Amino acid sequence: MFKSFLIKYAEIGVKGKNRYLFEDALVRQIRIALKRCEGEFKVHKTQGRIYIEVLSEYDYEDTVEQIKTVFGIVGICPVVHVEDEGFEKLCEEVIAYIKKVHPEGNQTFKVLARRARKNYPLESMEINRELGGVILNAFPNMKVDVHDPQIVLHIEIREKIYIYSKVIPGPGGMPIGTAGNAMLLLSGGIDSPVAGYMIAKRGVQIDAVYFHAPPYTSERAKEKVVDLAKLVSVYTGPIRLNIINFTDIQLYIYEQCPHEELTIIMRRYMMKIAERIAIESDCIGLITGESIAQVASQTLHSLMATNEVCTLPVYRPLIGFDKQEIVEISHKINTYETSILPFEDCCTIFVAKHPVTKPSLKMIKLHEKDLEEKIDDLVETAISTREILLCKK
Ligand code: ATP
Ligand code: MG
Repeated sequence: MFKSFLIKYAEIGVKGKNRYLFEDALVRQIRIALKRCEGEFKVHKTQGRIYIEVLSEYDYEDTVEQIKTVFGIVGICPVVHVEDEGFEKLCEEVIAYIKKVHPEGNQTFKVLARRARKNYPLESMEINRELGGVILNAFPNMKVDVHDPQIVLHIEIREKIYIYSKVIPGPGGMPIGTAGNAMLLLSGGIDSPVAGYMIAKRGVQIDAVYFHAPPYTSERAKEKVVDLAKLVSVYTGPIRLNIINFTDIQLYIYEQCPHEELTIIMRRYMMKIAERIAIESDCIGLITGESIAQVASQTLHSLMATNEVCTLPVYRPLIGFDKQEIVEISHKINTYETSILPFEDCCTIFVAKHPVTKPSLKMIKLHEKDLEEKIDDLVETAISTREILLCKK
């Protein structure tokens, strides 16, 4: 029934002279999303609007689902096309349209006509008035409300006539590729995939890094992180996942440092390595799934101690979120079921019974001196032997 989709975008409309860059990025991302759908489509920009034309048979539900993953879209309007065979025929088409699309027949509405083709015999205001009357006759329980209608029935007079009124909400945000790149520290947990999603929603392209510790962490745990990267890539586009073998570094810290400081020192090395890879990959920020006070390593004191090793900004979009709020988003973006699979992550193997919650930076730095002999070599080896996978759906 629907032969095209009109794409509504709000925020990117206000970017002045750079507007076309945002629109082009949005068009690119829509094309990528449509590659996951059966059918042939054409995405184009005309007169400050983005349209998706459907050129073949297609699966409506699936197509809408895929378009809904494109950041920058606030609304998706499925459009019916009818031939211009005179105004009376148009009235019939509109009535048939309302019966199908708004079968309740008791809403408030207004008609909003637009003549892209100026030789149409009626002017926009006349179309609004005439069609309004026809609708009121056909649906006695519908009412006109020009200020705040439940249904705005758009009639666009082009070569053909376009009818649309349904607005399916999009994810909002900004198109990927309009805000630079950042490196996500991706673990197998619930939080970091959500953190990546949230930063990508603002247009940031994501790379990722995962630290694993074979044989203490299994191949299954790694597969799970790859699966999570693939799930997040539905929204972010392909993710380059750097997989770092962290075992020797962890064991060395375990041997040399006080156990209650293990987690903090380990996290400082994760951040250091993530930053090194970030800079090599043209990323200008790091992203983590940390949230204040969720665990001992995420108190303000611990965050301060971890953050101290970084020179790049660290984005922590979940910092003020409760676990339940994070879980809700992970359900929405379809990562929850994978995140809760029970494979150990490398931090849980080496956790102390009583980790510090108020680490002293002075003590941490003092104890890190006991790593001086080997740590630089271990870090270099971990970075140079990393595995890189391109994760995409
Ligand atoms: P998550 O649910 O994201 O695993 P968490 O609640 O388990 O988070 P921590 O284990 O303290 O919290 O990790 C805090 C953040 O550090 C994670 O959100 C993630 O960004 C990063 N991180 C932790 N472990 C790893 C890892 N093995 N590889 C990459 N990043 C990690
Ligand atoms: Mg974790």
